[in-house]
Amino acid sequence: TAYGFKQVGQGEKQPLVNEVFHRVADRYDLMNDLMSAGLHRLWKDGMVSWLNPPKRHGFRSLDVAGGTGDIAFRIVEASNRNADVTVLDINGSMLKVGEERALKRGIAENLTFVEANAEELPFEDNSFDAYTIAFGIRNVPRIDVALSEAYRVLKPGGRFLCLEFSEVDMPLLDRIYDEWSFRAIPPIGKMVTGDDEPYRYLVESIRKFPNQKDFAAMITRAGFSRVTWRDYSGGIAALHSGWKI
Ligand code: SAM
Repeated sequence: TAYGFKQVGQGEKQPLVNEVFHRVADRYDLMNDLMSAGLHRLWKDGMVSWLNPPKRHGFRSLDVAGGTGDIAFRIVEASNRNADVTVLDINGSMLKVGEERALKRGIAENLTFVEANAEELPFEDNSFDAYTIAFGIRNVPRIDVALSEAYRVLKPGGRFLCLEFSEVDMPLLDRIYDEWSFRAIPPIGKMVTGDDEPYRYLVESIRKFPNQKDFAAMITRAGFSRVTWRDYSGGIAALHSGWKI
């Protein structure tokens, strides 16, 4: 590639991703703040306010690639601690950090942590009112399979929300964003975690992910209705929404 990064084939992708998140789990939250200059917090707040979980018992939400729990915790809080949220991640190291954080916040009762693959969800059909995935789907080797699984486990009337890095379409911002991504992020990663390779992978994977319109088409192909999106920070991130009707 233009920046000389390793190209990773489909079959090798998941082990590499697992290794990356295993290595950075302890520093993951700090890295998010540094690399996005705190913006990821606003995008995540936006995601949960768009979901607007009801403030009554019985709402079941699934947060896939939930990592250290950022989205799940926000859903629990936004529901006045009524929602039951399952945090699913393929990586036990990330989940462990999430469980410790949940205990510290006193919200562990509302949460279930499950180690599993987004491509093969260990749940019955029609089990959840909402499915969320933040900065996770880009890491899944077969995105279409993950989307079909999302559709399958949602109840009819259920909501799909996906927050992901996307395409910046603003003349000056795109250049600043490129400079930041390729010149600042890997060195910050090296400083904090001792290794820049995972952060080169991160930047590369963002560039390969489909843009807003193409990703919306994929969500529609998986069966979802009324698929829309909103951009955050000029398209650095985008939030896609769909409904299982
Ligand atoms: N959602 C959290 C957040 O926004 O802070 C964590 C996002 S983190 C960038 C990506 C997560 O995706 C990692 O915790 C990783 O283990 C998980 N992941 C990668 N591949 C996965 C898969 N196939 N199934 C489930 N989780 C996966």
